[in-house]
Amino acid sequence: MRPLLHLDRVTKRYGAVTVLHDVDLTVADNEFLTILGPSGSGKTTVLRVIGGFEAIDSGRLMFDGQDLAPVPINRRPFNTVFQDYALFHHMTVFENVAYGLRVRRTPREVVASRVEAVLATVGLEKFGARYPAQLSGGQRQRVALARAIVCAPRIILLDEPLAALDVELRAQMQRFLKDLQRRLGIAFVFITHDQEEAIALSDRIVVVRDGRLDLAGTPAPLYRRPRPAFVASFFGENNLVAGVLGQRSGERCRVDTALGSLIASAEGLDVPVGTAVIVAVRPEHVAFGPGTDNALAATVSEVRFLGANVMIELSVDGHAEPLKVRRLADQAAAAIAPGDRVTLGWSAAD
Ligand code: ADP
Ligand code: MG
Repeated sequence: MRPLLHLDRVTKRYGAVTVLHDVDLTVADNEFLTILGPSGSGKTTVLRVIGGFEAIDSGRLMFDGQDLAPVPINRRPFNTVFQDYALFHHMTVFENVAYGLRVRRTPREVVASRVEAVLATVGLEKFGARYPAQLSGGQRQRVALARAIVCAPRIILLDEPLAALDVELRAQMQRFLKDLQRRLGIAFVFITHDQEEAIALSDRIVVVRDGRLDLAGTPAPLYRRPRPAFVASFFGENNLVAGVLGQRSGERCRVDTALGSLIASAEGLDVPVGTAVIVAVRPEHVAFGPGTDNALAATVSEVRFLGANVMIELSVDGHAEPLKVRRLADQAAAAIAPGDRVTLGWSAAD
């Protein structure tokens, strides 16, 4: 993938507060890149900096090898879909979408054909004459998208565009967005605080915390090997157990914890014996009965049915937080009740 946009050690301050610290980020041509992070972590600020709505305090923004500093907002090859859509309520759908082209003094016939084509792309060809107030939330969302794509940007910036939609519509819009991105063949930089959404949509995910980019990766390895611990705690549910790194052999290591010695994967781990580390294991990777590498006695404290799955919480001596186990809601799971004494097991690779 060719890097199209590069944020090179970008720092942004509001007064005395630094909200982006030395952010390094590349966006490749045609990729669906997601910036994932909790509220207040700096996600919107990253987009506003790229879009040119905020000046930066240090660092550089490069697009296709060119410094963007002297390029004003309306000349940058990006369009933004804002969190609140920011539609013009006194204009029809057609006029909302046409606006960006008219500002660029596009000939009238070109405007008409281009707007119609873009409205068809987002499935709103019959809605050109309506006003935003006469549309559903999902339709308004698509108008905002049409407005962003009509000027043929190289990158579309989307700030939590699905946050306001209900669950069903949200799933539908996720599929629509992903499909649209493929059809257009341009890069999307998408913001969300929802990790499932990030996993479902992205080619690459960047996790941001307190104005720092923690890491970037493709969804599956990031889910399977989240590092550091913040990512493990934020990126999906995890059981986290603090300990000290003991002996390692090959790709496995021993970690001494309050729960006893645990055997964990040491893949890619480059810290010396004696270092404080955190063992993470996903609830879906813990089974009942001793595992190949780890076995732990526990007491069931709570059983929650979640439809296809059941989430079981267990207490373990020496660990304040309950451990979580996710199982298919089959007959074996249905027999589990609070107070049961059980053995939990998982493999080092998990
Ligand atoms: P996110 O989108 O991840 O929720 P933001 O990028 O909006 O986070 O904000 C990051 C931090 O910057 C927050 O602490 C926020 O309060 C602060 N911030 C955002 N905009 C401004 C502003 N215009 N002036 C001062 N502080 C701001
Ligand atoms: Mg935000």
